[in-house]
Amino acid sequence: MSNPLLDTSGLPNFDAIKPQHALPALQELIAAHRQKLADILAQPDAHDCASLITPMEEMSHELSRVWSPIGHLQSVLDDPAWRDAYNESLPLLTEHGTELSQNNELQKAYSQVSDNLPADADPALRALIEQELRDFRLAGVALPEAQKTRYRELAQEIAAIQATFEQNIQDATDHWHYQTVAGDAVTGLPASVRQRASADAKSNNVEGWWFKLDYPTYHAVMTHGENRELRETFYRAWSTRASDQAADLQWDNSEIIERIMSLRHEIAEIVGFDNYAAYSLATKMAGSANEVTEFLTELADKSRQTAKIELEQLTTFTGRSLQPWDFSFYMEKLKQDRFATSDEELKLYFPFATVKQGIFGVAEQLYGISVVENTNVSTWHENVKYFEISNANNELVGSFYTDLFARNGKRGGAWMDECVVRKDIAGTDTRPVGYLVCNFPPPDESGASFLTHTDVVTLFHEFGHMLHHLLTRITYPSISGINGVPWDAVELPSQFMENFAWCYDVLEKCSAHQDSGKSMPREVFDNLQASRNFGEALAMLRQIELALFDFRLHANYDPEKGANALPILNAVRAEVALIRHPDFNRLPHSFSHIFAGGYAAGYYSYKWAEVLAADAFAAFEETSIFDRATATRFREEILEIGGSRDFMDAYIAFRGRKPTLDALLRQSGIGKAA
Ligand SMILES: [Zn+2]
Repeated sequence: MSNPLLDTSGLPNFDAIKPQHALPALQELIAAHRQKLADILAQPDAHDCASLITPMEEMSHELSRVWSPIGHLQSVLDDPAWRDAYNESLPLLTEHGTELSQNNELQKAYSQVSDNLPADADPALRALIEQELRDFRLAGVALPEAQKTRYRELAQEIAAIQATFEQNIQDATDHWHYQTVAGDAVTGLPASVRQRASADAKSNNVEGWWFKLDYPTYHAVMTHGENRELRETFYRAWSTRASDQAADLQWDNSEIIERIMSLRHEIAEIVGFDNYAAYSLATKMAGSANEVTEFLTELADKSRQTAKIELEQLTTFTGRSLQPWDFSFYMEKLKQDRFATSDEELKLYFPFATVKQGIFGVAEQLYGISVVENTNVSTWHENVKYFEISNANNELVGSFYTDLFARNGKRGGAWMDECVVRKDIAGTDTRPVGYLVCNFPPPDESGASFLTHTDVVTLFHEFGHMLHHLLTRITYPSISGINGVPWDAVELPSQFMENFAWCYDVLEKCSAHQDSGKSMPREVFDNLQASRNFGEALAMLRQIELALFDFRLHANYDPEKGANALPILNAVRAEVALIRHPDFNRLPHSFSHIFAGGYAAGYYSYKWAEVLAADAFAAFEETSIFDRATATRFREEILEIGGSRDFMDAYIAFRGRKPTLDALLRQSGIGKAA
């Protein structure tokens, strides 16, 4: 029987794809690609675009199409067989990737094409080749064989151990529960959370409430739980996940952190960098470690005074000294008191279905596209939906799946991932497809799910990534959509979109009150808007704390001394943070962005790109938020270009100048309160 993963003629056939297809599909495809590559390199004539770039792009596109469902399904399905299949297949993918980027013959072929490019060659093609040549260097193509071999071993182990890091967090989270019969445990909690906890107690044949550690529950307890002990219990459980301080030690990530850091340092040194931070910057907008640290320090300095005032106001309001498990709770109380706005009341305005239509409406208004659901598509779960985006002339641009509600076994957080990357070379035109995944509260008994305003912002964020992936005009897959975009610019389109979730004209269309069906009244919005800045400076310091920790961890690594994650974190906290954390706090152990994801020595990217996003949005504020000319310029200069040009040049083409910190500081109300 044929392997459904290898059928790349249309969308993945999720009904037919099973874990046992993963490894054989990958083996077969990689073997075929090796043969094809050998044939390409054996050609007697000099290489040109048609003989080299086109087939190489075709192969990498095909491989990513086959791999995409494997990576995706293991993160959204509660199925150990998928995880095994993923873990078993990942080494093949890593090995093949390194083999390609260390192939001297292949590198020479790219150089040859580069040398022979005519002066008027497509700039996108030129950018692609430059990027490939850079990646050959970064994989140590020119090194002696022994070092290349060591590089390959390291790359293998890094990929595998990062996956284990993430899986440990997921298992630690999924296996935790807290059961209680104490009536006051649920005081203040939203009805949906109480209902879920009560239903879970019943299905576990116990009395009272059975709480899980999924993000919606954790967030609700920290924000609304009147019971301080319950908040402390959740804080402890959350901040010690997968650590030596957790109740269950079988998912402890301590050793894994040490190993990851040591492997990363070694791989960076092999290819000629002092440390992994320097290696990470080789592919980013930021020019040097100094530039990153100075950027973060400047932001911290500018935010500190306002943050101190915020903290003082909060302490005065509560009249007590605050523990880390008190902040969200009292922040919420203070917002209710001062701005007459409450998370739970706002939530009644945001039924998921209305929010979704509102978001699609924003994209339609900005870019003249339309988003329509298609129900005739195979998916992996009953809650999954599929949408198609078309241009004004009805031409299909791309499409995406949504999988938005929390469930056991699904990786936490929210993200956008590629299913199919845009490709239009050698006469075949493939439209891009993406996955949009969130962990919103699951629909209640009536089938409705209500989102907090924070959830609404998250959905705008991920949809921003999706538009970046789908609206690309670049047709070479390796630099199309988000590919080839420097990592510290990738969060620009997403954080840019968040701004629309703070505009009345937009929220009016995203809202329909649970009881009246009416959209959000102006005065409710005004209160929300007024509350936006409160706590922003503290939140800014928190992000800078994470970013500096990540960067110093990688920049200062010393093989003699080990990772030193906790001492470095404590030093950064002493320097930047205003909120003290208890000694048992183990933030690094569940910091998957940097230990499992692509943000290693790159977490600063969020702040870096947020500066760009705020500055870009200011261009809309200077005209109007739906100004077509500005939107078209943003689409053409930023969203569509993928990795085809220098990002700062592109930004200047959109904005007419370099970005400044001003818009972000203004937007965050920093300096105002002082
Ligand atoms: Zn993002």
